Amino acid sequence: MVSRLITARNQRHREDIPAGWRPIYDRLVERLASLDPEPEVRQAKEKFASLSVYLEPWIPAAAPLIEEAKREAESACQVCGAPAKMYNIDHVVSRFCPIHVGPRR
Ligand SMILES: [Zn+2]
Repeated sequence: MVSRLITARNQRHREDIPAGWRPIYDRLVERLASLDPEPEVRQAKEKFASLSVYLEPWIPAAAPLIEEAKREAESACQVCGAPAKMYNIDHVVSRFCPIHVGPRR
């Protein structure tokens, strides 16, 4: 039961993440729930065109799960999740698919 509470709290951080990456984050939260103890997400956000997830407590078993989510995010459009490339627009790096980078140029 305690674990479900942590999972629910971890799910709330999805609102802080670009929409296209939320399915990646959802899978990460599910996988974190299988660890014991289940780590709590302190912060989750886009940082330098990658997914940053900070845990409390930090547990080494979570590292490969977070790494995998990061790698997935680094090839997914922040808007829609489609295959993406990194763009540097006005000194801000982001991941966009060809459709979503268009209007910004
Ligand atoms: Zn897109």
